[in-house]
Amino acid sequence: MNDDLTALIRTIPDFPKPGIAFRDITTLLLSPAGLAATVERLVLATRGRVDLVAGIEARGFLFAAAVAVPLNAGVLLIRKDGKLPGATIAEDYALEYGQDRIAMHADACAPGARVLLIDDLIATGGTARAAVRLLRKAGAVVEQAQFVVDLPDLGGADRLRAEGIAVDALVA
Ligand code: 5GP
Repeated sequence: MNDDLTALIRTIPDFPKPGIAFRDITTLLLSPAGLAATVERLVLATRGRVDLVAGIEARGFLFAAAVAVPLNAGVLLIRKDGKLPGATIAEDYALEYGQDRIAMHADACAPGARVLLIDDLIATGGTARAAVRLLRKAGAVVEQAQFVVDLPDLGGADRLRAEGIAVDALVA
């Protein structure tokens, strides 16, 4: 069903390091029809009321903003730690080697706000799961996450589902 989108995403071998096959969505963004179809399908997959769409830095921002407008929702930025100007709360997560930290403004969402999480791609799920922990720490209700691409062999979507999140991805 989403073969048209699959055809617009290219795979770059050995990026960012040898052995990694990077799914490059910049070619999808360059296509007016592909971009419009992506946003439309993400909006259609949305269930229930959404107060805020949380986008994960940096490619997640693009889709979060485009999806938020027709949903009449705001956009909440989840960034690498140290990039946001106001008081933040943060969450650590494990990488293959070492760890990383994401942050959001502490006052970005009211307790009980219904938040839809969006990123361009889910692989191991480490980033998205940390984002869910962070949003829940802020008092948000997070029940749904959307991705343009899922790499199912890496198990991230299943891990997210195990934490009570409905996961949609357009391309696997
Ligand atoms: P995870 O935490 O699920 O292992 O990795 C997902 C995060 O890393 C997302 O924020 C995503 O943007 C980025 N990422 C990892 N691999 C790829 C890839 O092959 N293509 C793209 N576009 N992003 C990737």
